[in-house]
Amino acid sequence: MSNKAVRVLLIEDNPADTRLIREILAETKGTPFELECADRLATGLACLARGGIDVVLLDLGLPDSQGLSTLVKVQAKALTVPVVVLTCLDDETLAVEAVQEGAQDYLVKGQVARSPLRHSIRYAIERKRAEEALLESEERFRSIVENSHDGIMILDDSYRFIYGNDELCRISGYPRQELIGQDFRQFLDEESRQLVVDRYIQRQRGEVAPPRYEFNIVRKDGEKRRVEINSSVIKDSAGKVKTVAQILDITERKHLERRVVEYEELNKLKSNLLSTVSHELRTPLTTIKGYSTMLLDYDRRLGRDEKQEYLSAIDKATDRMTELVEHLLDMSRMEAGLLKLDKVPTNITALLQNTIAEARLRTPGHKIMLKLPKTALRLNSDGRRIRQVVDNLIDNATKYSKPASTVTIEARSQDSELAISIADQGIGISRENLGKVFDRMFNLEHRLTQEPGGLGLGLALCKALVEAHGGRIWVESELGKGSVFNFVLPQEAIAEGEAYGEKGQQNNNSHHRG
Ligand code: ADP
Repeated sequence: MSNKAVRVLLIEDNPADTRLIREILAETKGTPFELECADRLATGLACLARGGIDVVLLDLGLPDSQGLSTLVKVQAKALTVPVVVLTCLDDETLAVEAVQEGAQDYLVKGQVARSPLRHSIRYAIERKRAEEALLESEERFRSIVENSHDGIMILDDSYRFIYGNDELCRISGYPRQELIGQDFRQFLDEESRQLVVDRYIQRQRGEVAPPRYEFNIVRKDGEKRRVEINSSVIKDSAGKVKTVAQILDITERKHLERRVVEYEELNKLKSNLLSTVSHELRTPLTTIKGYSTMLLDYDRRLGRDEKQEYLSAIDKATDRMTELVEHLLDMSRMEAGLLKLDKVPTNITALLQNTIAEARLRTPGHKIMLKLPKTALRLNSDGRRIRQVVDNLIDNATKYSKPASTVTIEARSQDSELAISIADQGIGISRENLGKVFDRMFNLEHRLTQEPGGLGLGLALCKALVEAHGGRIWVESELGKGSVFNFVLPQEAIAEGEAYGEKGQQNNNSHHRG
């Protein structure tokens, strides 16, 4: 404290007490004091309003104000001025309350001796300064935390929110009053809840657990946000465990990362597709070119059977090329969102019978069976597209199974859905690949070890077409035993008397090639 005089305002209505204090403070030893006196609160407040007072000595029982409210009124007038409360011997409780209310110290009147009074005044001034400094640093800290671009939260040892800043409220979508006191875990999805609890237990046990990890917060509006947490566990002055954590919303970053990966995969697929397409087109083209040259050059020397054989090879190669081009076109239409369905009431029974009849002609070696219920199956659908799906699945079934083996097509109506299955006794699909066969260009990965014969677009197209009808498609398979491809389509009501898309027999139960 400097040697500048300390200006003391004494608000006291008892002249004897005033006199005593005046005498003590008038002593010349030590810090000089300048005393101003007021015997009523109103006079004291007027003096405070003029400014320049370093400390107030305040009697709480004045003619114009009694009790704690006297202190409150003084503080309201001069918030930054320290107050030492003067109290009577029998009123020490009130003095303690006054200190809790913000007074810096108290003295019991009648016991006011020289040294304690001077000491108390200096102590009150220093304490007030320290309080102001603490308040200022707390304020600064609070403003940094409040305005942080990261979410910041403090949880108690039961995961309940003690504090959350504005950004945390924004990320969670909950206003602060709905967060505080709530269990943090209820704002997470199930998988994240388990993760957070596991990490917390690990760290409490003192095991090494990364402080930074990711999980999902479910916002008030139900939207899931991916967040990264960076947390530390602390013990407060009472020894209670608390978690202080920084929460970063990384949803957009994750989205972007996924897009980049997808984009890179797409790029890879596109360049793979280009080389596969050229390869796939070249094979039938070579066949067509070779046989047609032979037919032109050796026309006269070729027998009828040979000519028939060459022409049929050209025919098959042309079909293959047409199919490839059709698949490519459908795929690009699908990607551009241009694959439109033309739904009409369709006689699925007749459609399947026609499809199977043609499949039997294409692969005479296989035994193709058709199992149908007695009543005709009807569906509001794009018959051409449904036929494409069935054709594709039958062609795969025959392509990936030995001739003379059986391919069974079965259709039935169940629970307002129409279910169709195509079962073969072929090579089957490994468990690992089961989930991938419907992916675009799945086959490309396996190309080099396989016969040329597909772009791996067929099943992806089947899936898109079935889903466009509101249905589902899946496969069950066992390596070496065979596969069953299933798809179901929702049966919308078709009004009686509506026209059928295709005509045909309706009561055929089972067909197979003899
Ligand atoms: P692809 O044009 O190559 O036949 P698909 O999309 O029709 O393309 O099929 C993708 C892959 O799924 C095939 O390459 C094959 O490995 C596998 N697959 C499809 N159908 C069957 C089946 N019935 N039996 C065994 N594997 C099959």
